[in-house]
Amino acid sequence: MTLSGPTAEHWAAAVEAVRSTGADDEIQLICHVNPDGDALGSMLGFGLGLRRLGFTRVRATFPGDFVVPEPYRLLPGSDLLEPEAFSEPRLVIVFDVASESRLGALASRVAAAPASVVLDHHASNTGFGGVRLVDPHAAATSVVAEGLLSRLKVPLDAEIAECFYVALATDTGSFKFDMTTVSVHELAARLIATGIRPGEISRRIFDSRPFGAMKLTGEVIGRAVLDESAAGGRGMVWTYATLADLERHGQPPYVLDSLIDPVRSVAEADVSVVVKQVATGEWSVSLRSKGAVDVSGVAVAQGGGGHRLAAGFTGYGEAADVVATVRRLLDEHLN
Ligand code: AMP
Ligand code: MN
Ligand code: MN
Repeated sequence: MTLSGPTAEHWAAAVEAVRSTGADDEIQLICHVNPDGDALGSMLGFGLGLRRLGFTRVRATFPGDFVVPEPYRLLPGSDLLEPEAFSEPRLVIVFDVASESRLGALASRVAAAPASVVLDHHASNTGFGGVRLVDPHAAATSVVAEGLLSRLKVPLDAEIAECFYVALATDTGSFKFDMTTVSVHELAARLIATGIRPGEISRRIFDSRPFGAMKLTGEVIGRAVLDESAAGGRGMVWTYATLADLERHGQPPYVLDSLIDPVRSVAEADVSVVVKQVATGEWSVSLRSKGAVDVSGVAVAQGGGGHRLAAGFTGYGEAADVVATVRRLLDEHLN
């Protein structure tokens, strides 16, 4: 666990790792499985920064199904994305990854690389990799990525800024969550000053989805259950979605990732849970708390990770079993 942010020595080591890489050396960027706006935005924005520095062989990838969620397909720097990672890159840089399990088969690429740098902001970060820039107080990994680019003397431009803005807006719930500090707004102001259009970006990323995704959301929300006695009486609301639900509405799995937002708005529950099927007997679980429970503790206990108020893990068995396990663990992690 890393509770304090990167020291001057960490920053200097990260700058040195980049500066000692040759312009034609292979640099592999990796973000977490099922990437979100912060994973892709911090990785592609940083990748564009490396291009500005003259690096010619930069690739970006992530483990698992190589599907970029529709809202992120137009991110600047998307041409850096390649499913196939370099087999022996000189430098590997990892974005928004709390633990090696989120790197899947690519974890070995990090371990084997002559140099690696990990940029992250999860308090649950397990401390893997060479140089670790892990700042649990950062609202998004893009905050750390921008800090490293500025130390590498790469000025922000509109393309880099759009990537970092998407990352920042995603992880702060559009500047609504508690970690939306003065410095978050200051960074947002510097990003917007490059000429990017926040309204247009937000519409594309958050407020646009296929009709089928809306119908699917309606169905899944319709089966939500409120358990008012859970979490020491603070309440828990939960729902689930199966692969059959996705198929019926012709939707890809990532459309379920925003479902937690309407679910967590339920006033009677501190904790919200969405259980999303990824295979037979395997579920991706999203947990949120309004403050009563440290849900990252629950997630870590199940082999996952995250932040105090937003976390996740992979659960096994029936959806109801997964929820029963969460319900049991909640009482152990009351704040
Ligand atoms: P999500 O519910 O997928 O939006 O994830 C919420 C937070 O939990 C994010 O910070 C994720 O990085 C983290 N998280 C989700 N699933 C896992 C997992 N299986 N292992 C580690 N961290 C996770
Ligand atoms: Mn993420
Ligand atoms: Mn993040």
